[in-house]
Amino acid sequence: MSTVLVIGASRGIGLELVRQYREEGRRVIATVRDEAGRERVQALGAEAKQIDVTNPASVSGLAWLLDGEKIDIALYVAGVIRRPNALTPPTQQDFDAVMHTNVLGAMQALPQVAPMVEEAGGVFAFLSSSMSQIGSVDDSGSWVYRVSKAALNMAVAAAQNDYPRATLITIDPGWVQTDMGGATAPVQIEDSVSGMRSVIATLTPEDKGQLLHYDGRRAAHW
Ligand code: NDP
Repeated sequence: MSTVLVIGASRGIGLELVRQYREEGRRVIATVRDEAGRERVQALGAEAKQIDVTNPASVSGLAWLLDGEKIDIALYVAGVIRRPNALTPPTQQDFDAVMHTNVLGAMQALPQVAPMVEEAGGVFAFLSSSMSQIGSVDDSGSWVYRVSKAALNMAVAAAQNDYPRATLITIDPGWVQTDMGGATAPVQIEDSVSGMRSVIATLTPEDKGQLLHYDGRRAAHW
């Protein structure tokens, strides 16, 4: 049975990834931060591990927690947002929270998990955003978040060179109805996740290191 790892699986897109990959018959390892999250992923038949990606001791234990695994599909889903735009300087607190979760956490997880994905010739996907794309930017809303996802795109594109037997991508889930996306978002969580699953299942070598959209559109990083 093939194995899927979801980092940041307690709710939202991560939890729906767990649900759909379990429904597909995969073994799923899901990381959460608290007991409530653990119960939700276990109720879907996933194995739970506790990881806080902003806690260096916690995230550096990933390789140890996953020792000996071959991972067919890994997803780095953990993410936070802050909304202020470029009319005010970001606070150190907002900057650190967003960059730590969205960028540093991903960069710390990547070298630990990518060798296990290489063992399976698998895919390591990182949840990015269309808000990371410099070429199509039309406002500065959530500008620290935009910066964090643009940085994530670069981290993943660069790292692809070091893990040639795995496919590393960034993926935009669309604007999705979750705690982060809000109730008025146009994309239903089920559609976003089923779209991402099909994209991940049909990647080509040309997609390595690239940003893709959940509906199959390929996008430039800039
Ligand atoms: P939610 O806010 O609904 O869920 C965020 C998830 O990230 C939760 O599982 C949360 O865990 C986890 N998380 C946050 N901080 C940490 C941490 N320090 N360590 C481990 N896990 C953490 O967000 P979504 O499901 O909407 O978003 C998932 C991803 O998709 C994010 O990376 C987001 O940036 C991206 N995205 C979402 C869009 C949308 O419209 N929803 C659009 C574009 C991108 P906990 O429950 O413990 O807080």
